[in-house]
Amino acid sequence: MDMILASRNQKKIKELNAILSASIPDIRILSLDDIGFEGDIEENGTTFEENALIKARTAMAAGDNRYPAVADDSGLSVDVLGGAPGVYSARYAGGHGNDEANNQLLLKTLENTPDEKRTAQFVSVIACVFPDGRKILVRGEAKGLILREYRGEGGFGYDPLFLYLPENEGEPYNKTFSEMTSEEKNIISHRGRAIRKLAVELSNQVNHRGNT
Ligand code: IMP
Repeated sequence: MDMILASRNQKKIKELNAILSASIPDIRILSLDDIGFEGDIEENGTTFEENALIKARTAMAAGDNRYPAVADDSGLSVDVLGGAPGVYSARYAGGHGNDEANNQLLLKTLENTPDEKRTAQFVSVIACVFPDGRKILVRGEAKGLILREYRGEGGFGYDPLFLYLPENEGEPYNKTFSEMTSEEKNIISHRGRAIRKLAVELSNQVNHRGNT
């Protein structure tokens, strides 16, 4: 079963392949490059769901509607900011993907917010669309607190400010996402949770309806 991932990021492609092939052995993930799509996809939705669907539908159309397509959209949602930066997480401070500027703006914005009100969640939404009109939308979340200074060296984006709040016994505690190994982060992260939900939904669809 061939499926397009609306990305050029080889890391994301490998990750999705590894997780999905455990339940759908014949899956093959095609990148935007593999289908010869050279453009950029404009993410102009106002929710993670809208953006993930825009990207998935654009990718499916770019593949002449021959294959299903998958896309994700993720970001940080801070409760006291009404969910901001949300879908604007990558460009919170203006330029796209300037992690340092984004983190500094977040710290400044929350300067006068007391510790107990600094709750937030990382959100990851994955959309999968099919040529016959079916669609799957899954959401993964990881809850935490926004610290007042960086902790840890690993990860990317808002990771050094995000202190994970464990939901179950045995999960990493008193650690920011930057202090976790990537294995630890994958188990509890918004993205890991969303991908595993997708794997379940997708294998149900494929096994119950035959190959798409
Ligand atoms: P994207 O949708 O995966 O491109 O993520 C959008 C933005 O959300 C990123 O540029 C980061 O600022 C933020 N973000 C999403 N996931 C994470 C994460 O796991 N750690 C830190 N920041 C993240």
